[in-house]
Amino acid sequence: MLEGKAPRGQLGPYPLERLKRVDKPTTYIGPNVQRVSEYDAGFLKAGRGEYGPRLKAEASRFVSKEPVAAAMSQMLRGLRELELVPVYSTLAPIPKDAGAQSRHVKALGYFLRADCIGICELPQYAVYAADREDRPVELDHKYAIVFLIDQGWRTFNGGLGSDWISAGQSMKSYSTSGFIATVVANYIRRLGYEAEPHFSGHYKVLMPPLVLLSGLGEMSRFGGAILNPFLGPRFKASAVTTNLPLEPDKPIDFGLRHYCKVCKKCARECPSQSISYSDEMIIYNDHETYELDVKGCTRMRVGNPAGASCGRCIKVCPWNKPYEGIHKLVEWTLERVSLSHRFSVWMDDLLGYGRQNIEDKWWYDLEEVEGIFQVPEKVGAVVKSSPLARKKEVLAVEEDDTE
Ligand code: SF4
Ligand code: SF4
Repeated sequence: MLEGKAPRGQLGPYPLERLKRVDKPTTYIGPNVQRVSEYDAGFLKAGRGEYGPRLKAEASRFVSKEPVAAAMSQMLRGLRELELVPVYSTLAPIPKDAGAQSRHVKALGYFLRADCIGICELPQYAVYAADREDRPVELDHKYAIVFLIDQGWRTFNGGLGSDWISAGQSMKSYSTSGFIATVVANYIRRLGYEAEPHFSGHYKVLMPPLVLLSGLGEMSRFGGAILNPFLGPRFKASAVTTNLPLEPDKPIDFGLRHYCKVCKKCARECPSQSISYSDEMIIYNDHETYELDVKGCTRMRVGNPAGASCGRCIKVCPWNKPYEGIHKLVEWTLERVSLSHRFSVWMDDLLGYGRQNIEDKWWYDLEEVEGIFQVPEKVGAVVKSSPLARKKEVLAVEEDDTE
């Protein structure tokens, strides 16, 4: 007799089970969404010199110039090179019920310390048309299991979001989510089902639509990024695509569409002024999203002279809170009462959320230059002037980059 059933009720650290589920995402996705290529990602364009020689040089070091990020990035490279076990030719004697399988793989993911997990069917538009090297990608798996990993609230609280630990925060979630996806894919392959892991530098799929469809978030103002009700935008995602029979989750509605419309704090605080202030989303590639100046954001992340990468928009978002104490009640209220949204944004500023709390700063600001660590001249890029004046400063930097 095969024992070992995943328990009923909440499996992970956050109560995903109590969220309002809807049949379709709260932002429009049409029937004509075209597949995109990872080759066209901003970081890769910068690395090929399409944004000027300064960013081409910075693209090879903007993560590894800071020692915490460099250490994790090295780990991630090892994961990418790991060979997957061949799919076993005989199916393991496990239950065939898709609901039981879904709870089982989620329980495994939480055992491996994922923060949130969801499942969706894999639409073909979420499969990249071409990879980082511009090679065509094909993938016909039926399902995607999506894992979110928190980048750490306390570290965001101790920093500016655009300083020297910024790339380290991303790398922490990229490497942990990559580890989980690789273990889960290798486990499923041992059970006799096809499975592939997708994580930073090793994606065949585009993560935002999968996070959206698997009920782990809604579309946010920072163009194309998905925001989770418990982690806010403070996560990175990985996935396992598979043919193991699974039961998809439904998308969620926690009121973010209206919240982002009235908030705009990320647009106000973005050092490169790349985020839209518009009240309305646009239709891009047959889906709704807010416009984002991808080139401006890439320029800031790759070429930030005052830090390693940038996540200032994540730092200042009012949904970037620890899920504890009073914040649980606030989150519960925001989900249900849209009239509370404006008040919440106002209170967020009034109470000083989004500022640096130096007591939580645990890392050293260090920059590697030609093999030697030194104390950098600048720490953190923030908007010091009005958004309009800031945009002019940004345009001046752009001219430098094209010389
Ligand atoms: S430049 Fe920084 S704050 Fe602005 S969108 Fe990019 S990551 Fe966010
Ligand atoms: S800062 Fe405000 S507008 Fe921007 S993503 Fe967060 S909630 Fe939306």
